[in-house]
Amino acid sequence: MNKKNIVAGNWKMNKTPYEGKAFMRDVKDMVKNTNSTEIIFLPAFTGLFDTHLNKPFHLGAQNCHWETSGAFTGEVSIEMLKESKVEYILVGHSERRQLFDETDVIINKKVKSIQFSKLKPILCIGETIEDRKSGLTKDVLRNQLVKNLEGIDSIKNFIIAYEPIWAIGTGENANEEQIYAAHSFIKSVLNKLYPDINNCPILYGGSVNAKNAKELIQISGVDGFLIGGASLDKDSFVSIIRDVENFRS
Ligand code: PEP
Repeated sequence: MNKKNIVAGNWKMNKTPYEGKAFMRDVKDMVKNTNSTEIIFLPAFTGLFDTHLNKPFHLGAQNCHWETSGAFTGEVSIEMLKESKVEYILVGHSERRQLFDETDVIINKKVKSIQFSKLKPILCIGETIEDRKSGLTKDVLRNQLVKNLEGIDSIKNFIIAYEPIWAIGTGENANEEQIYAAHSFIKSVLNKLYPDINNCPILYGGSVNAKNAKELIQISGVDGFLIGGASLDKDSFVSIIRDVENFRS
């Protein structure tokens, strides 16, 4: 079976539930079906409930707590997400790491709970501009993978998203050479950690848009995209889906 390509839209704190449902409906009408591409919508928690999607469309959450229930005011458990038919959960996004102080230890707890609950983690990793300028990109990526995946014995249902932090929301995507090098390196680390599994999809994220998607999807090792800003506009999002689909079909 051919590996599916993935286009995931991280809406962050945008779109009300009503706006989100209308958006998904429009995208479904515009795309109808795909041969080789999975599309994942990642709305805010409030947009997850009562959302019904069929293949190739899937639902993901942007966050979760690692405990099943309890006195954790303001948090949402994986059990609650499951009731909303969530299949994927984003974890380790740089905004969670930087703005909400999520450490590798916390991310690892979430990854373990997501796997235990039989949902699929989309684990984001990536370096800062300072890391890159200091030649530390590989060290940072390896470190994040090793720490975030500690105690995980299989990454069968995982997606990894390589998201250089300096490219997120800046309009400056990483170039072909940088993306190829990072994806090859991530693959080599995963191959060492999980010798039996080497087809974990690796997405690129960081200022992907309707203008650069066609070029970026051609980079060897890129299995799709995690998209922020451009996933909020239906024409841009659908145009990216078409570029991925046309290249891989
Ligand atoms: C993101 O937040 O995951 C992201 C990739 O954002 P953007 O596409 O806006 O750079």
